[in-house]
Amino acid sequence: MTNKSDDRKRKLIETVDELKSQLAALSDFIYQHPEIGYQEYEASKLLAGFFRANGFTVETGYGGLDTAFRAVYRQGSGGPRIGLLCEYDAIENVGHACAHHLQGPCMAGAALAVRAAAGDRPYTLEIIGTPAEEMAEGGKNIMLENGAFKDLDVALMMHGSDTTTTDIKSMACTQFAVTFTGVAAHAAIAPEKGRSALEALMLVFNGLAYLRGHVRDDARIHGIIDNGGQAVNAIPEKATARIEVRAYDRPYLDEMIERVQRIFAGAALMTDTAYEVRRVGNFHNKIPVLTLNELLMKNAELAEAKAIAPPREKTGSTDFASVMYFVPGSCIRVAFVDKGVTAHSREWLAKGLSDDAHEALLTGAKILAMTVLDLIEDGQAVRKIRAEFDREKAKLTKN
Ligand SMILES: [Zn+2]
Ligand SMILES: [Zn+2]
Repeated sequence: MTNKSDDRKRKLIETVDELKSQLAALSDFIYQHPEIGYQEYEASKLLAGFFRANGFTVETGYGGLDTAFRAVYRQGSGGPRIGLLCEYDAIENVGHACAHHLQGPCMAGAALAVRAAAGDRPYTLEIIGTPAEEMAEGGKNIMLENGAFKDLDVALMMHGSDTTTTDIKSMACTQFAVTFTGVAAHAAIAPEKGRSALEALMLVFNGLAYLRGHVRDDARIHGIIDNGGQAVNAIPEKATARIEVRAYDRPYLDEMIERVQRIFAGAALMTDTAYEVRRVGNFHNKIPVLTLNELLMKNAELAEAKAIAPPREKTGSTDFASVMYFVPGSCIRVAFVDKGVTAHSREWLAKGLSDDAHEALLTGAKILAMTVLDLIEDGQAVRKIRAEFDREKAKLTKN
């Protein structure tokens, strides 16, 4: 780091610390007014208002979603265009047990710190509020289809966690809602007239169980029956299930999906029933960009983040990964709960207003702001990151 850069990072840390009470108040308000996906009117209004009051150009209803927004700040012309994405949805009947209330205030701190500390070099910041992460279809997937992230060179996020780390990978995931329709009949008096939709589903689950033995070790296939029949003495006319399939890369998952589709068709043939299948969720896998992860972790040390740890071995699926399938990106996970405490738990929820939570959002803001500063100052950084992203993505189709 050059001395000038040292000075800038010191200035940036000071700026974030000065904003502490303001950012903590934003975070506490969102926590105390939990809103589920697509209903985050209060949170998006609060955050959009903050950016507008601070001189950003704000667009609400961005990317086709009412509770999404984009706040843009541009210095000079050209330079990197960096996205800072934030979620603010809660979990139904539970509240902010995934700590999404920390993200918007974190991005607010990061954006103001970049603006205060960056020199004269050109750059554009886009703070994008992304609703409904917890919903099956993932709000970012909808925004992606509407072109919301297409201008970004790099996309960054922050998420609360039990350690401070960045993930290397995440699973591509597709969720199906499948409905079988048979013919109802009395199960004792006229079974020969019936065609069982439930039996079709049982065959689907058996087919999936066999398929599980012929896919990659780290692939996942799971499902639930949400309607298995209407009365025990009637042949079930309708039966519905949710099936999820996951793999660490999208092209391989698409191959699995073709086989799953044949299982649906086969079950219908065997039982003489009809079926309809709908994709309710379609998440891509994250494309790893280690250069970006290393930059975040180096800055995590400078920000004196707690519980710095290596990347997680097991990861699930997230709609941010769908963004990172098209735009190089990474999410800094910042420790604020004890090690081993998992998201969506009561213990996680209980920490939402704590000093540790406030500290984590400030730490996240410092890490992200320093990383953005590095991207602005190193004229080659974005190009290098893009090259690594392209190389990694090309590997997927060669496997
Ligand atoms: Zn969650
Ligand atoms: Zn979350």
